[in-house]
Amino acid sequence: MEPVYVLDTSALIFRSIPEGRKVTITEVYDELEGELSKLFFEKSSIKVLYSDEESIEKVRDAAKGTGDDMKLSETDVKLLALANQIKEEGKDVKIVSDDYSIQNVANKLNLEFEGIMQEEIGKEFRWIKKCVGCYREFNSDEYDMCPICGSGLQNRVIRQKDIIDD
Ligand SMILES: [Zn+2]
Repeated sequence: MEPVYVLDTSALIFRSIPEGRKVTITEVYDELEGELSKLFFEKSSIKVLYSDEESIEKVRDAAKGTGDDMKLSETDVKLLALANQIKEEGKDVKIVSDDYSIQNVANKLNLEFEGIMQEEIGKEFRWIKKCVGCYREFNSDEYDMCPICGSGLQNRVIRQKDIIDD
């Protein structure tokens, strides 16, 4: 049986997109805002789905077990949760991600995964955090909350050439 591929943000940036059924979560779609068009998702027939609470809890428990709970982002947890849901529906599923913590927790949950080439992505793209309140941008991992207005930060992917160092 052909697996359902669950794509993380990196897989989509690098367009490491396998043939067959492909899904991702709304949070990944949001992180890619501005980089990949809605049309790209439609053309590539990637379904954007939600993960359910029960599955999210299961992933959190597994992540605590492997010590990855602090390393996984909300998006990572929800991506794993979606993969877990699909598996529980009795389908074959494969996560496409290079993230070590995602792979680790996937292993724990008996979910299959395959990697992509992270080094290649780094040449062209990088992660930043964008404030949901004032929309200021910060280097990834620099802050957990906006130091200007105190709002939450969301992960975003941007092209290297668009970065203006301050
Ligand atoms: Zn702010």
